[in-house]
Amino acid sequence: MEKRILPGIVILLVLLLVMVLAAWTLQTAQRKPEQTTPVPSANLDAPLYDWKLVTTWPKGLPGLYSAPEKFAERVFAMSHGRLRIRVYGAGELVPPFEVFTAVSQGAAQMGHGAAYYWKGKMPAAVFFTAIPFAMNAQEMNGWLHHGGGMALWEKLYAPYGVIPFAGGSTGVQMGGWFNRELRDREDLVGLKMRIPGLAGEVFSGAGGTAVTIAGSEIYTSMQTGVIDAVEWVGPYNDRILGLQEVGQYYYYPGWHEPGAMLEFTVNQAAFESLPSDLQAIIRNATEAVSQDTLDEFTAANNESLRRIRATGRNDIRQLPDDVLQALYDSSEVAIANLMATDAAAREIGESYFQFFDDVRAYHEISERAYLNARDRVLPPIAE
Ligand code: CA
Repeated sequence: MEKRILPGIVILLVLLLVMVLAAWTLQTAQRKPEQTTPVPSANLDAPLYDWKLVTTWPKGLPGLYSAPEKFAERVFAMSHGRLRIRVYGAGELVPPFEVFTAVSQGAAQMGHGAAYYWKGKMPAAVFFTAIPFAMNAQEMNGWLHHGGGMALWEKLYAPYGVIPFAGGSTGVQMGGWFNRELRDREDLVGLKMRIPGLAGEVFSGAGGTAVTIAGSEIYTSMQTGVIDAVEWVGPYNDRILGLQEVGQYYYYPGWHEPGAMLEFTVNQAAFESLPSDLQAIIRNATEAVSQDTLDEFTAANNESLRRIRATGRNDIRQLPDDVLQALYDSSEVAIANLMATDAAAREIGESYFQFFDDVRAYHEISERAYLNARDRVLPPIAE
């Protein structure tokens, strides 16, 4: 008798527990809006916006593609679901190098990429990604947000009906993967390298041949010998593309992209159609994600470098001084040409280099002085 009643009691107890849990969950769910909504309840009846954000990055690529994804999540949460932004990888909606045009024409309300991809349209755009041998991430952030840079960036994009925001920095990149050893500047002659932007011109000016290849084709191009060298980003992203499998030498530092800044772009008419609180949410989410992206790169590059080193199959080397000098000389020529032939580049360049001179003088006795001081007293770095 007991043996038949006991299972029945257990089932009853379990059922009761499930019912209590269900009632509690339902009550919590109903209570949630009042608990987490700081805005007046009238806003919950406000119009819903469904936006598209197109990117220049392969879908799902950590650090680069994940920045706009994080942005969309934050905007959705902060707006209480009133602004939903769908993120698209390169080629899903538009080809990678047509992101700016898509945002300008309103085919998508937002984009994420890098300003230097648009240098064919606006040569001065390179100042908002990276200038060879110039500002690092910390310095770029200072110039953009507190040194007049953002106003110049907005002015450059205004004729296209596009509003820019800083979209995260990669920090100092790596010089790149090479399948030929670099001993001096003569080794640059005839070298075919994937290197975009102003740096590509600089590389060609120093005797190499620069080509622009989208991220998805880099691995095969290196493997088949179509190119001899490639710069992509740094250990974090390079390792995901598998470049350590197809490149022998890993040279540093990234003279050409000492703190490459990414960008968010917003169609101006779409932005202005939003209520002011959603505009503020977009502004704040871009700032938060921009900083978070740099933080992510700082943390993930370390781990990835350790893993690349652990395989023992690559030669990780510093670029020889003679190679750096040749690249610097070529970059001086390229920047002078750019500022002499383009009015916007002249105006932006003057602001950029004024800030750079000032920050360089201060960083000499702050950031650099500290790194030097640290190394004088700490034990040598273990590799
Ligand atoms: Ca790069």
